[in-house]
Amino acid sequence: MDRKGIIFTNNGFVHSSTVHYPYEERGLQFGDGIYEVVRVYQGKCYLLEEHIDRLFRSANAISLVLPFSKKELMEHFITLLQLNSFTDDGIIYVQITRGSAKRNHIFPKVEPNFYAYVDHYPRPVDFISHGISVITYPDIRWQYCYIKSLNLLPNVLAKQEAAEQQCFDAIFHRDEIITESSAANVFIVKDQSLYTHPATEQILHGCVRNRVLTLARNAQINVIETTFTRKDLLDADEVFLTSSGIEVMPVIQIDGKTVGSGTPGAVSRKLQKLYEQDAQLVTLQGGIS
Ligand SMILES: *Cc1c(COP(=O)(O)O)cnc(C)c1O
Repeated sequence: MDRKGIIFTNNGFVHSSTVHYPYEERGLQFGDGIYEVVRVYQGKCYLLEEHIDRLFRSANAISLVLPFSKKELMEHFITLLQLNSFTDDGIIYVQITRGSAKRNHIFPKVEPNFYAYVDHYPRPVDFISHGISVITYPDIRWQYCYIKSLNLLPNVLAKQEAAEQQCFDAIFHRDEIITESSAANVFIVKDQSLYTHPATEQILHGCVRNRVLTLARNAQINVIETTFTRKDLLDADEVFLTSSGIEVMPVIQIDGKTVGSGTPGAVSRKLQKLYEQDAQLVTLQGGIS
């Protein structure tokens, strides 16, 4: 039995067991492609338009012309969920590469390759409730981190180092400035104000980051998009990460040092609650928010 069932590809909707990738493929040989991960709650996409907009921005940034419109892709995702009778919590993963061609750095004149699948992905409720430990790690990535590109080697190395130290994730710093984590955006709370790195080329502009900023502003929390240092991170009252997979994830230990009181703080809790309401989730305390 194939876990992923029907997937969406260049050849339409096909069973995933029938998909075979050529070895001369731009994504495989050059990392020459982009991707998105869309959160699915109870079979429905959350922040779908935001993800699709970002996919098109990423494509544009690497001069890749996508073989579908935004509206078409949105419809394909809905069809994908329907064909798989998917009503669980999960993710849609979609990637598009510059296609299959004889190995040569120059862009080939071929059609892009793409696929999208849906997979189960439960909310990491234990971690969300209790918080996680992280390490800090030098940001050795390139200058265009706002592109959700397939080149994830620095992210992989950072996350692996975190895992080897029994930590959940690695927070990147470029020199002393905190950028983001291996796969999520980073926020700190100091004296009731919320800080996060501005949406420059140095970070991925997270859909959840954006939404959390809006939720915070609407809740009259003072929001400051500015750079902060590793020292500010270690001195923060609260720290949390955001992404489609981990929502608003409190960080309670960094490089072995306790954050704040050592438990998720009040601002983090408040934003978790607002996130759950926004995504129409059953709250971790039980009941519909
Ligand atoms: C995908 C990603 C995020 C989070 O983006 P969301 O849209 O919030 O899921 C943050 N940082 C990096 C490096 C990412 O790849």
